[in-house]
Amino acid sequence: MIIVMKPNAPQASIENVIRIIESKGLETHLSIGKEVTIIGVVGDKSKLQTENLEIAPDVDKIVPVTESYKLSNKKFHPEPSVIKVGNTQIGGNTLTIMAGPCAVETEKQLLSIAHAVKASGATIVRGGAYKPRTSPYSFQGLEEEGLRYMQKAKEETGLATICEVTSLDAINAAVKYVDMIQIGARNMQNFYLLKEAGKSGLPVLLKRGLAATIDEWLNAAEYIIAEGNPNVVLCERGIRTFETTTRNTLDISAVPVIKERSHLPIIVDPSHATGVRAYVKPLAKSAIAAGADGLMIEVHNDPARALSDGPQSLTFDQFHELSNEIRPYATLSGRTF
Ligand code: PEP
Ligand code: MN
Repeated sequence: MIIVMKPNAPQASIENVIRIIESKGLETHLSIGKEVTIIGVVGDKSKLQTENLEIAPDVDKIVPVTESYKLSNKKFHPEPSVIKVGNTQIGGNTLTIMAGPCAVETEKQLLSIAHAVKASGATIVRGGAYKPRTSPYSFQGLEEEGLRYMQKAKEETGLATICEVTSLDAINAAVKYVDMIQIGARNMQNFYLLKEAGKSGLPVLLKRGLAATIDEWLNAAEYIIAEGNPNVVLCERGIRTFETTTRNTLDISAVPVIKERSHLPIIVDPSHATGVRAYVKPLAKSAIAAGADGLMIEVHNDPARALSDGPQSLTFDQFHELSNEIRPYATLSGRTF
């Protein structure tokens, strides 16, 4: 449950409510807004039955929360979160574009892609150094060497960087080189990894699992935030359905549903959602129209020779065209890009 204090409630009244809750062995989470402070209660609420918190000084109202996620819940934190990543941000009135290769292959490849995506308006370069491939015989990534190239790309272009992590070792390496870590669809319910991502101190992009409901996804975000890391961004990347003409089915409705239920920013990845280059641009437009805070787009200098996800990767020219064509959609949505 959530206790909403009256506007500008004095500190003593806030502390009084916290003391009552904690004296019953329950945990509190504080959300301090410009005027209103909200106190989230975590634990067995029945222990508070005799406390009459609704008539404690400066309590406005008590709102029951039935969802098991609290820290990612909009009821607890009504103001939308804006997450800082390097010298850019995700959320607010910005449309943030992250783009780059599926996998970091060579230093030269990554640097050329980073320069190209920057020239077309991306502010974050992506590149996988630890690849969770379906087949163990497919290219698995350059690991720490790939992270070093990401760092070089940041130094050369000033772009922020994001890289997927698949293990604690990968997290420990990534914190030395990149600005944001990504938990991929296949690891969305790897609860151990989620907790370690929460402890890493870096902002986390949490992709939706291949067959995860929105509730499961927000509970996964909760694991990260509960470790004291509020800097979580969600990424809709398509879910498994009966349809086979696209790699996955982009659940565009996830965007307004998340906006209604959570304060966390949400971006859309039309590349992994479709697996088909030709469908990336129309779905990028639909994502912005639906209210997404950004996009993740795979771009490669030579898609035909890419070591992974070539068929969905855009060429530099195609990415440039996408970037030009989405501008009016960003403007209509009140976002700068
Ligand atoms: C990726 O971003 O390279 C990736 C593997 O994505 P997903 O986890 O969405 O499949
Ligand atoms: Mn990929």
